[in-house]
Amino acid sequence: MYKRCICGETMALGLRKVFYSKTVSIAGVPVYACSHCSRNEVYPGVKSDLSRLLTDLGAKPLPREIRFDEVHEWAGMLSQAASSSMPLSAARIARLTEERTNELLDLLLIAASLGDLAWKRELEGRLSQLNGQYIS
Ligand SMILES: [Zn+2]
Repeated sequence: MYKRCICGETMALGLRKVFYSKTVSIAGVPVYACSHCSRNEVYPGVKSDLSRLLTDLGAKPLPREIRFDEVHEWAGMLSQAASSSMPLSAARIARLTEERTNELLDLLLIAASLGDLAWKRELEGRLSQLNGQYIS
């Protein structure tokens, strides 16, 4: 997964550790990085979920480490894709995303037929994290 940097070089998508308020480290955040000018950009599809996470942490969070790939479905998919192939391949990510989406849709069907509304809402949230990347 690549995009063009404003300096004209290519940015590659990878998983980075980012720091928030100097006390919280968030590992496994999808970030485009340029090796030429050292510019970093959070992947647009996870920006809103990441900023929600930071809002939840508040202005003075206690020191801790968060694994973004454990709280965000699509970041989790990326970390799975990254452990088996480098660099991250768009085709492999698309296939993994589709598999995971189908899995969640099956669970959603079960949750709906059980009338478990809380579980259903949680699954819908996870599905929107997976599909969020297509919106931006
Ligand atoms: Zn650059």
